[in-house]
Amino acid sequence: MRLKDKTILVSAAGQGIGRASAIACALEGAKVIAADINETTLASLAEEHPDIQTRNLDVCDRTAIDALAAELPPLDGLFNCAGFVHHGTVLDISEEDWAFSFDLNVTSMYRMTQAFLPAMRERARTSGTASILNMSSMASSIKGFPLRTLYGATKAAVIGLTKGIAADFVAEGIRCNALCPGTVDTPSLRGPIAAAPDPAEAERNFIARQPMGRLATVDDLTPMVVYLLSDESRFVSGQALLVDGGVTI
Ligand code: NAD
Repeated sequence: MRLKDKTILVSAAGQGIGRASAIACALEGAKVIAADINETTLASLAEEHPDIQTRNLDVCDRTAIDALAAELPPLDGLFNCAGFVHHGTVLDISEEDWAFSFDLNVTSMYRMTQAFLPAMRERARTSGTASILNMSSMASSIKGFPLRTLYGATKAAVIGLTKGIAADFVAEGIRCNALCPGTVDTPSLRGPIAAAPDPAEAERNFIARQPMGRLATVDDLTPMVVYLLSDESRFVSGQALLVDGGVTI
């Protein structure tokens, strides 16, 4: 049990990578709190995994975040997973699009960290370590992709936020890393594929940029999530870790 005795909060845990991560952490012995804005997917998670606690949480709502932080015991692990993919060039981005993506993809992580870090620092004083994991992407400061200007800008900001938090608290045993996946087969990817004029071609195009010849599954990501939230990664902080099937070789 690699996460035995650890309390871990995962945001955006209703579906996709967040849900798979919540389940993987629970299977490794963690007490998991799975948070999402979607009551329906949370209910199905709670039904499938009664050992996982679920909480309705909008990561853009500071009052709700602060209330949850006051309610929960100190965390050993916080996985900020929520994010949205804007599709378009710089010429397509409205002021509202820009503000929405930065709020959900970046500002939410600042809010969550401000709310949960004080108790995590206390926890690290006795346990020696606590870990924050922020969801970034290979589409960020690492590499640019067509029609991902806004998304890449937000995910690059996540890497900067991660390094700043890591630098400020490294001496206290707080670690902070960013996860940078390749293209992962999740409901949010299936939506744009289904909406494309030729869905089969859209899927082939996503696969074509993966040198391993396939999309990632959520289970390709969860081993890295568990590692970064566990003490096995105790000497790793401030890093942007790629799990991209070789796209950035
Ligand atoms: P998804 O888009 O399928 O699901 C996102 C989840 O976030 C949903 O359950 C949704 O209800 C929840 N959510 C949306 N707004 C929220 C809010 N305000 N508060 C709380 N929860 C909210 O998930 P995914 O594709 O697994 O992506 C998860 C993360 O991984 C995102 O940050 C995404 O940018 C990142 N990512 C995904 C891929 C990919 O190819 N799927 C690649 C790299 C990075």
